[in-house]
Amino acid sequence: MELLEAAVRSYAWGSRTAIAQLRGDRNPTPHPEAELWLGAHPGDPAMLAGSRSENGAARSLLEQIDADPVGQLGRQVLAQFGPRLPFLLKVLAAEEPLSLQAHPSKRQAEEGFDREEERGLPIDSPLRNYRDRNHKPEVVVALGPFEALAGFRDAASTVELLAAIDVPELAPHIALLRGEQDEAGLRALFTTWITMPQNAVDELLPKVVQGCVRYLTAHSGGGPLGAVMRTVLEISDTYPGDVGVLSSMLLNRVTLQDGEALYLPAGNLHAYLRGVAVEVMANSDNVLRGGLTPKHVDVPELLRVLDFGSVDAVPMTDTTAPGGPPIPGEYEYPAHTQDFRLSRVLLGVDPLTLGGRDNPDARGPEILLCVDGAVELRCGEQRLELGGTQAAWIAAADPALTLRALTPSARVFRSTVGAIGPGAGKPLVSHQLDTANSRGEDVRP
Ligand SMILES: [Zn+2]
Repeated sequence: MELLEAAVRSYAWGSRTAIAQLRGDRNPTPHPEAELWLGAHPGDPAMLAGSRSENGAARSLLEQIDADPVGQLGRQVLAQFGPRLPFLLKVLAAEEPLSLQAHPSKRQAEEGFDREEERGLPIDSPLRNYRDRNHKPEVVVALGPFEALAGFRDAASTVELLAAIDVPELAPHIALLRGEQDEAGLRALFTTWITMPQNAVDELLPKVVQGCVRYLTAHSGGGPLGAVMRTVLEISDTYPGDVGVLSSMLLNRVTLQDGEALYLPAGNLHAYLRGVAVEVMANSDNVLRGGLTPKHVDVPELLRVLDFGSVDAVPMTDTTAPGGPPIPGEYEYPAHTQDFRLSRVLLGVDPLTLGGRDNPDARGPEILLCVDGAVELRCGEQRLELGGTQAAWIAAADPALTLRALTPSARVFRSTVGAIGPGAGKPLVSHQLDTANSRGEDVRP
């Protein structure tokens, strides 16, 4: 067990205050802080604080795993995923909308990577879609209100939205979707928009924006579609003239409350708009962009990967008592992937021993991230204290792990590998981990 120092990523859409506040640092910061990376990603691995020498040099988690893959990852994880950490845990703080994007399935990533290798595209080329052969499912958990677009809304509701914008130039697009109110219609309309010449986008977009302003004025800033209309305006402010503003009208607009989460499977078109969140994903860089970005958009490849089936983007709720407040214990956010498992651990006064570490042969690596309060970790003879957004690395070789709040309550996120331990290989449902408190009581409902 070791204290893990996150790598801080600065992107233009980040916040100068949110991450610094969580970490207890001075703010506003000179540069926007967008993401904290907690993992062993070769692009920016986290550092092991205990290894830091007097001259400031430290060993990275990546180097530690390279030097001792069996001890760090465990035999099962090593056999299934090779000598690398299968997941990356992040804290992200978005002040502005991020690009519209989707991620490939494992098979699509393998095929796409091989195709781009055959074409001889250098791995760091900006034209490259596939930088590895892996899928990239994600779970995002809000820390406070978090706005996002995720998955295609059902076609009938989108017809209603486009009609309410009330712009004659949208008439053929409405007719297209009205004629086929399903996956095929959504694919046809999305394809029409994303392949539209820029001069046509430049003509249509201002009219759509005006339509949204008219709707909001007529409804005193509200109305049943007010939130969606405001989002169109906001995105168009940040990305004027970007065709992604049109595509964003096809997606579910979701507001997550603190502790609520979304699972983003392969093919789900999504964009984070604003807020602070914890995110875990499979160890991959494979992103297909669909607009709201100055970066490369490969339209044919995006169309190949996107899932046009409409979905209800219903947040997963962070509660073990339906309708009630979260109760102490471990709650798992369901995700249908073997690469990671994410749970939040809510701690009260009683120490809690985390499940899944009793069998030395089936133990894996994990990262614990404290987001509220302060917590004491005990692992064998070792003891660590974590405060705001501090994290700990637990190697597979480390024994049982007991947590205790040092403040009246504390919240910790726990990221482990989904392919090992209880429920391995099955689609996961909530409350599946063996969770027991120090008195040996089962806290599952
Ligand atoms: Zn994503």
